[in-house]
Amino acid sequence: MQKKHPYLRDKLSIEQRAKFQRGTDVGVLAHEVFPNGIDMSPNSPSQFPKKVQETRDNLSDPEVKVMYEAVFQFNDTLIMLDMLVRDGDKWLAVEVKSSMRLSDTYYNDAALQYYVLHGCGVPLSDFRLMYLNSDYMKDGPIDVQQLFKMESVMEYVVEREAFVAENVERLKKVVALPHSPLVNIGTQCNNPYPCDFQGHCWKLIPKNSFLFTTAMDDETLFQSYFNGVNTNAKMLAQLEPESEEAHQIEALETNSYYIDYKTLYSLAPQPKPKSVAYLNLLLNRPAVPELDGTKPYEEMILAFALQGEFENGAAIDSMPPTYPRRNDMAAAESCFVWDCFEDHSRWKEAIPLLIEKLSHYELIVCFTPQNLTTTLLRHEIIQNQKVGYKVFNLFDVLQQARFYHPAIKRGLTLQRLETALFSEPKLFEHSRILLEATSNDLIGYQQAREDLIAENEIVAKTYQLLFK
Ligand code: SF4
Repeated sequence: MQKKHPYLRDKLSIEQRAKFQRGTDVGVLAHEVFPNGIDMSPNSPSQFPKKVQETRDNLSDPEVKVMYEAVFQFNDTLIMLDMLVRDGDKWLAVEVKSSMRLSDTYYNDAALQYYVLHGCGVPLSDFRLMYLNSDYMKDGPIDVQQLFKMESVMEYVVEREAFVAENVERLKKVVALPHSPLVNIGTQCNNPYPCDFQGHCWKLIPKNSFLFTTAMDDETLFQSYFNGVNTNAKMLAQLEPESEEAHQIEALETNSYYIDYKTLYSLAPQPKPKSVAYLNLLLNRPAVPELDGTKPYEEMILAFALQGEFENGAAIDSMPPTYPRRNDMAAAESCFVWDCFEDHSRWKEAIPLLIEKLSHYELIVCFTPQNLTTTLLRHEIIQNQKVGYKVFNLFDVLQQARFYHPAIKRGLTLQRLETALFSEPKLFEHSRILLEATSNDLIGYQQAREDLIAENEIVAKTYQLLFK
């Protein structure tokens, strides 16, 4: 599909784009470990042959000590290597990863690159993976020698060469076919990663097909599907009428949501709280530490929105007199917003503010896949779990109550929850808010603040709908 029909590929999500950008940023910084190299990056795929030739010329030029993104091709397989460093009469190959741990995917990626380098006859002294050192703590300008760690994977890639060669031959046959192969949709569409061509391959599957349920795993779903159970009616005939699976199919048929109300109400806060605060925290974990005293991916609070309510329905003072309004504080109706978008070094100011503000309430309602209590403990906003308020995470509660809607096949997000409950989705995603918040531009900051408030409103509306 990528070779013959790249235009059919789904658009990258904001999250994927942010991930790729992070990888690029870390990769560029890693160049400083082996500085003054020649950047071989092609501007477009049409430049690949030229870059392959230039790379080859550079290999035999003793003046060239380091190459970035050197392009090699062997047996119709093309690679771009992050760094190639002259090491005596051999070369050290380095591939950079923007994470703190190495996984099988990275090892296999290195194995493919080694296969091509070996095939091109590049004599290697070693093949290393470079990744972020989780123990590095920033103190002054970034020390790239300390920020990155390296691990030799030479033994692994040599041992994997035959496996790679076998698969290259197999995949070359696929690419040589006049059309993309006729393969039915199946478990491979989401495992090991969601495939980028689902928009195309799944377009004939009705939006309300039982294949979009979550109560059964993909293995079971596709087994039934290929055994002739290929309509909702046929699937329903096989299920217990009151089973979760059957309820999900009914939700698909009616484009509505299913919730196990008995469980939901058993989880309702008891006794009914007299005061509730809706809290939306915006956290950031930069791969490369920004502030002195922080480590890679260390979490900081970039912003929060807090909206309070008392039993009689009156909104509480969203801006207590002890906190005079400043330029970076906005209030929309009863929603209080704090942020440090313009100066991240101020992020710890959020802590005393949150301690004070949260203390006014009995219940803190949020929607987050993370454990908010753990986050509050980590930042010492609470010292132990014996605080005056309870944390009520709608994300967990809804999952426990088996909340389901056709929109949540790929996971419960606030955006999908809004679609499910209120059918009026606004066009934002949490990852977009984070991107805007770190965008270095004032319009982005303002948009991020507005989105934080809008998200918090959905949390408040959901809680009120389900528990009031
Ligand atoms: S069948 Fe599934 S895995 Fe294969 S290209 Fe289509 S969406 Fe991707």
